[in-house]
Amino acid sequence: MGTDEAVLAYGGGWLDRAGELRTDPERIAALLADPASTLLPLWRDRCLVAGDVPVRLSGERAAGALAVADETVFLGMDEGSAVFAVDLSGLPEAAAVEVAGAGAAVDVRALVGRLDPAGAAVQAYARGLLHWHRQQRFCGTCGASTVARGGGHVRSCARADCGRLLFPRIEPAVIVLVEAPGAPDRCLLARHAGAPEGAYSTLAGFVEVGESLEDAVRREMAEEAGVTVTDLAYVGSQAWPFPAGLMVGFRATAASEQVRVDGEELLEARWFTRDELRERAAAGRPLGRADSIDHHLLRSWLAAGA
Ligand SMILES: [Zn+2]
Repeated sequence: MGTDEAVLAYGGGWLDRAGELRTDPERIAALLADPASTLLPLWRDRCLVAGDVPVRLSGERAAGALAVADETVFLGMDEGSAVFAVDLSGLPEAAAVEVAGAGAAVDVRALVGRLDPAGAAVQAYARGLLHWHRQQRFCGTCGASTVARGGGHVRSCARADCGRLLFPRIEPAVIVLVEAPGAPDRCLLARHAGAPEGAYSTLAGFVEVGESLEDAVRREMAEEAGVTVTDLAYVGSQAWPFPAGLMVGFRATAASEQVRVDGEELLEARWFTRDELRERAAAGRPLGRADSIDHHLLRSWLAAGA
């Protein structure tokens, strides 16, 4: 996808995840004590900000946060300095804000337009990983407590005769821009249950167990819109750790123009020409959320035609 990748929020991989350090607890401890290291404090899926800027802690402030944190995870190396995330969710909100020397706790998605891409990506990464820790405190096999290991990238059951390992879980979903089979060029957009009147977006759905991504595309398009699709082409993917998603974008072509929505998930689906989409955008109807791959799929489809 080349340079288009840079436009997708929450991705880009600027941080060196330094996976080889995760299995070296002494090195991780030394990095935690290193004054050059920084900590991103989070409180229950929210980042702690001063003004619009997520705070990064070091020195005494970092030591104060570590002393009261529920969990500390190693995110990686940023130009030679370690970056950790600390979870202050066990504190009341006001106490977490105060410990971090912040002004407020806000969702990263509310900030994304004001953060640089690397800043948004690291906040989303921290949010997703800490969320996972809070959901995996007990072993699903024996019910005993679990403890974080590997710099916070695995949890293990504390019961010696079980020892089950739990890894961060990612839930993939496919999102598809479906094109009409004949001229003029049109794409299929749907109005989802719960969406505001007149808000249309591309079709999407979760990948199920035992399915390939392609299987999921074919099943979801058939179930939701009654459309048989061919000529699937991968477009790109987007990290979506809200809380654990990975959005995998495709284009596909419908075998026929007939559409039949299920009336539950989708209330309506119809074909739009590029001119119609441009008119809608000009009239102030945004083409998906600016930080979403939905928006990217639509923008790139518009750009591909006159
Ligand atoms: Zn267990």
